[in-house]
Amino acid sequence: MIYPPQQISCECCVIGTGPAGLGAALELVNHGTTSVVVVDKNSRVGGLSRTDIMGGQRFDVGPHRFFSKSKEVNRIWRETLGEDFRPVSRMTRIFYRNKYFQYPIKPLDALTKLGSIESLEAALSYLFTRGRRGEEPAKTFEEWTTRNFGRKLYETFFKTYTEKVWGIPCDQIGAEWASQRIKGLNALEVIKNAFLGGRSNRIRTLVEQFDYPALGAGQMYEAMCERIARGGAEVRLNSRVVRVRRRDGRMTSIDVEREGRTTTITARAFFSSMPLAHFFRMMEPVTRDEAVDRLRYRDHITVNLMVGRPFVFPDQWIYVHSPEVQMARVANYKNFSEKMVADPGKTSLSVEYFVFHGQGLWNEPDESLLALAVRELDRMGIVKAGEVESGCVARETEAYPVYYLGYGESYERVKSLVDSMANLLPIGRAGMHKYNNQDHSLMSGLLAARNYLKLPGSPYALWDINIDAEYHEGGRRER
Ligand SMILES: Cc1cc2nc3c(=O)[nH]c(=O)nc-3n(C[C@H](O)[C@H](O)[C@H](O)COP(=O)(O)OP(=O)(O)OC[C@H]3O[C@@H](n4cnc5c(N)ncnc54)[C@H](O)[C@@H]3O)c2cc1C
Repeated sequence: MIYPPQQISCECCVIGTGPAGLGAALELVNHGTTSVVVVDKNSRVGGLSRTDIMGGQRFDVGPHRFFSKSKEVNRIWRETLGEDFRPVSRMTRIFYRNKYFQYPIKPLDALTKLGSIESLEAALSYLFTRGRRGEEPAKTFEEWTTRNFGRKLYETFFKTYTEKVWGIPCDQIGAEWASQRIKGLNALEVIKNAFLGGRSNRIRTLVEQFDYPALGAGQMYEAMCERIARGGAEVRLNSRVVRVRRRDGRMTSIDVEREGRTTTITARAFFSSMPLAHFFRMMEPVTRDEAVDRLRYRDHITVNLMVGRPFVFPDQWIYVHSPEVQMARVANYKNFSEKMVADPGKTSLSVEYFVFHGQGLWNEPDESLLALAVRELDRMGIVKAGEVESGCVARETEAYPVYYLGYGESYERVKSLVDSMANLLPIGRAGMHKYNNQDHSLMSGLLAARNYLKLPGSPYALWDINIDAEYHEGGRRER
């Protein structure tokens, strides 16, 4: 059915109901700005942090742990869900060469499983790289990791997994990613952490406890969205932005399509968490800039499976480094929260594949992906094919902004295009092309709203969140 176009106007329009969009909307309504319209193309809120329900079972888009160094983010999460936001003791391992290595890596465990010759090789290659310190800063992920761990440990514990996730060789991935995500971590720190333990030795990727909502990551954002709607904002789901208009250095309106009807939304300010490249491609008049086309994304497939037995493995997730299988990770949601599974006699797993849209596995029908995941789990000895009772596939485009070697110049150019529009506030992971976690995205939304409202402390340097601001996992947990 074709409906006549509709026009609405509001003070603030927010694109996206992920942590960033809801963070912005929450801060606006909390400060009395209620003329807010939030749009999302999806039917559920939460973006990449949503929880889908299939046959009564709950599945995130890949497992989502909640961890933040920010006091404020922790407070908001806790206030939003109260008792339903629960601590979980982390158990994660690496599967490599048919063995399970503890993660965080424990030297004794790793050395025993690697065997004496490989352990010696690892120690020698680490000592060799330490001897060669003082070179220019590392440019690639491979250089960065080899320098901090030695070549042998890099090849064993970083290379295959990282290449599965990013789809490009480690010598084509910028060192920015390594230094942002595994900052402060090197072989010496791992050894210190393993032997000495203690809070002061906690490093960012080694956090041993995290929080998780009883009903999945998305429960957080569903609750947050209810608060926002109660506060007076309007949330429009199934509403895809298809056009963005600008004039004289300002955004004027967006067109949103929902069930065959186009709605034009005019606003004084626009907060956008949709992928930056799409945003510019939708712009009228057209903004043609090669830099926009050089932003690249990695896409994601989750194969969700129900297994007909109560216990499968004790980990929340297992990193799968083995090159013989294509999956990168397998998660067990029962080990996050027992409420994720409707029938306690069963177990829900999700198997993750990292892909490029339109290539390879992305083009496979769901049945082939289900069969692949079951085959691979069987091969790894995790479940037998006959034990899998049902399954479904979820596909996400633009799941990961790719920090490929040399992307920085185009990125800086796109940032300047964004900054040239006075009333556009970029927020979030794809909206700022940053490898954000939920807390960074939520914070970007909060701070963008504070900038708009000119609250004390503003203007905040939004582009710096997740680089040098205090939102890393490295420090003490603040509860
Ligand atoms: C596999 C995986 C595992 C992860 N694990 C963790 C974890 O353990 N812990 C953690 O903290 N973080 C994790 N993350 C990161 C986390 O998912 C993101 O940081 C977070 O969801 C980003 O929030 P956001 O609001 O910036 O963007 P998103 O969550 O991507 O939300 C953007 C929203 O914009 C909407 N949108 C896009 N285009 C349009 C359009 N044209 N019109 C209307 N709406 C549009 C989308 O539908 C989406 O809802 C993980 C991510 C992935 C992919």
